[in-house]
Amino acid sequence: MVRSVVKDMTGTVSIGIEAFSPDYFTARERFRAAVEARGFVVESLSVGLRGPSGEDLTIDVARLGSERPERAVVVSSGLHGVEGFFGSAVQLALLEAGVPGDLLADGDSLILVHALDPYGFAWIRRFDEQNVDLNRNFLINGERYQGSPPAYRQLNGLLNPPYAPSRVDTFWPRALLALAWYGRRSLRQAVAHGQYDFPRGLFFGGVGHSRTYQLLLENLPRWLGSAQEVTHIDFHTGLGEWGTYKLLIDPELGPASFARLVETFGEDAIQVSSSTGISYTTRGDLGPWCQATFPECHYDYVCAEFGTYSPLTVVSALRWENQAHHWGDPGDAATHNAKAWLKEVFVPADTDWRATTLAEGVALVRRALASLRGRSDPVRERS
Ligand SMILES: [Zn+2]
Repeated sequence: MVRSVVKDMTGTVSIGIEAFSPDYFTARERFRAAVEARGFVVESLSVGLRGPSGEDLTIDVARLGSERPERAVVVSSGLHGVEGFFGSAVQLALLEAGVPGDLLADGDSLILVHALDPYGFAWIRRFDEQNVDLNRNFLINGERYQGSPPAYRQLNGLLNPPYAPSRVDTFWPRALLALAWYGRRSLRQAVAHGQYDFPRGLFFGGVGHSRTYQLLLENLPRWLGSAQEVTHIDFHTGLGEWGTYKLLIDPELGPASFARLVETFGEDAIQVSSSTGISYTTRGDLGPWCQATFPECHYDYVCAEFGTYSPLTVVSALRWENQAHHWGDPGDAATHNAKAWLKEVFVPADTDWRATTLAEGVALVRRALASLRGRSDPVRERS
């Protein structure tokens, strides 16, 4: 079995790619067992839906360390459903490598939130049961769930064909023409910014607060208690160079948060979301919402993106699965193949990819935990 070694200032741990689970249900069972084996309690929040085998779908949460934290690291997985295979593996590897005890000082808490979109994870989708892209759903400041980039309207026919997948599909030549017409950056920005007008389309942000939004609003304050220092890593895949990662930061998070994150993770790892680099600007990100919800707290949030396939390959896979989901037969081979390819695109089976990214993911969380210690040092207290 392929294993990677993670070395940092706090020690060395060995990570095996068996932490990747074959399906949501297995991932959840393993997460629960690993938490309970370490003497902690798992809190399961039902989302009132069922998975392919009839299982109740839940968001599972483990709080390790202090029950009344002054400082916390939050590690969340599966905000984009199918991407949860990766984030869940990081969470399991962390638990199985025996991370927390040695890294958690008094007043520190590690909060693991497993499968923020259990529906998408279980049914192999990036979106929730309402077709909502949850990382476009967390609007703040009373922003209305309306509007789309003008170019999205023009591209709607290409992105969201209203019929089942067929053998003859002109997506690639049309997509390459669109790429030439709009340019790479403008096209990416138009497609992935978030839209609120096409309910069956890709990157749809919803018509109101999603179930996951409501559950986080109800429970995150209780999990964090009176913590004043929070570092939140939300794991994603499908953006960036194969097998590498970037920590995307929303520009709204501000310079103080940026400075703290650079200190924790290093400048090279961080990218402020903009229309340049690998990222793009979006509406309704979880990060600014977390910061707005906890204004008294130093809430530092990164979207940790691990690269897989090329952007057009990823969009093509999303489009194919979305077409099959809305217009295809759930039981037929075409739908099965579309979902199998979507899973491959977001969590490649390649053992090198899995070993590398898993080790990097675990190292990021350990770094965040180690930096909490520095934050308890009064010399480094900030205003
Ligand atoms: Zn994602």
